Amino acid sequence: MSEYIESLKSQGKLRISTDQSKKFDWQFTKIAGPCSVEGPEIVDIAKKVKSLGANAFRAGAYKPCTFPILKETKGWKEGLRKEGLELLKIVKKETGLPIVTEVMDASMIDQVSEVADVLQVGTRNFQNYSLLDALGKTKKPILLKRGTWGTIDEILGSCERILVGGNENLAICLRGVVGMPSYRHVFPTVRWAPDLMMIPALKEFTNIPVIYDPSHSTGYRKFVKPISKAALAAGANGLIIECHPEPDKSISDPAQAITYSTLSEIFNEQLV
Ligand code: PEP
Ligand code: MN
Repeated sequence: MSEYIESLKSQGKLRISTDQSKKFDWQFTKIAGPCSVEGPEIVDIAKKVKSLGANAFRAGAYKPCTFPILKETKGWKEGLRKEGLELLKIVKKETGLPIVTEVMDASMIDQVSEVADVLQVGTRNFQNYSLLDALGKTKKPILLKRGTWGTIDEILGSCERILVGGNENLAICLRGVVGMPSYRHVFPTVRWAPDLMMIPALKEFTNIPVIYDPSHSTGYRKFVKPISKAALAAGANGLIIECHPEPDKSISDPAQAITYSTLSEIFNEQLV
């Protein structure tokens, strides 16, 4: 056990469990789907994704966007919102896949929980303490995405907020961090730096499962497969990947969406 963690604990600064014998029950390891729910075709997308090996389906009904008005289109305004949740209900009924979708604030927990099997906390809410405290009081599995600025202490602290509320069904999602990738002029959609070293680093400090997001962390579809492989080699418990039948036509995050065939390669060659 790390001395650092021991010292935090002895000072009463950290209450999260680092008991490696205590296994977290996290069954969602091959999570895939488009960035957002775009329309009724989401049902066919989910069927396809399931046939390629996904054991959970991701798609945002509520999508916090960096520039909120840029992508207002066909009723899609930072997501299809309530209509998106209704479509996810159909996905769940028709495929049986557990649904991973974002909850943007505490007032939405009940509404999103009607369909979500996993409540995703987006990067921008990584330190939204009223949301994290409220999620600690639910029984739903939580996928906590690391803020792009989050230090290891901040990751553990945000986890602790959920755990001490009584909800231990939690996984950390690493999705890239701030940095100035020196190849950005060649790959303009690269916004973040992959945070692969945090995978083994977190394993030193906690037994909370770590899910890697090779889509947001790379921002560029060509890098999704190699970084998936690297994340698994580094000890990630699973992956959450964005894919789309016509990746370039994705309403949100088109450059990082991969094709079905690449998804199949990742799930069937690499993750067992
Ligand atoms: C997403 O998963 O589509 C998303 C918005 O991710 P993040 O919160 O990591 O930016
Ligand atoms: Mn996205």
